[in-house]
Amino acid sequence: MAILPLVILPDQRLRLVSEPVGSVTAEIRRLADDMLETMYDAPGIGLAAIQIGVAKRLITVDTSKEENVRRPQVFIDPVITWASEETRGYDEGCLSIPDYYAEVTRPDRVRVRFRDLDGAEREIEADGLLATCIQHEIDHLDGVLFVDHISKLKRDRVMKKFAKAAKRDAA
Ligand code: ZN
Repeated sequence: MAILPLVILPDQRLRLVSEPVGSVTAEIRRLADDMLETMYDAPGIGLAAIQIGVAKRLITVDTSKEENVRRPQVFIDPVITWASEETRGYDEGCLSIPDYYAEVTRPDRVRVRFRDLDGAEREIEADGLLATCIQHEIDHLDGVLFVDHISKLKRDRVMKKFAKAAKRDAA
C-alpha cells in the first residue's frame, strides 16, 4: 500500500468526468488499497480516485465514529438509484480543498448501486453522514465539488483564495 499525493484545487483534473472501472482487476484492488491508506493518513472520511489523479469511478468511505475502529467501504461504479425528498445540511470539507468548510444541503437518505471488490453487484441504503459522504464522493466522479453547491459569492471567494495560493507556491 502507498500514501499518494492529493490533487488540490485549482487543479483542473478535479473537473474531469471519470471513466467506468469495468472489471475489478488486481490493479483496481491495489488502487482501492492505496486510496484507503491515503484517506486514513489525511485523515478523511471519503476519497474519490480523481483526488489522487486517477479518473476512474471508484470511491472509498469510512464514516465509523468509533475510535480506532476502521470500517472501510469501497464503491466501484456507484450510481444513486433513489434519493429521499427530505434533506439535511451538513458542514462539509474536502481533502482537495484543505481547511475550508461550508454547509451543503443534500438528500438525507440515498440508495446506491455499486460493485464491491469481488466484482459483485450490490445496493445499500444510506442515511446521515454516510449518505452525505457518498453523495459528495460521487459528485467528484462527475467533476463536481461541494463548493459548487454553495452560493456563487462564497464559491468565487474560495476559488480565488486557492488560485492565489497555487500561484504563490509556483513562484
Ligand atoms: Zn471531496
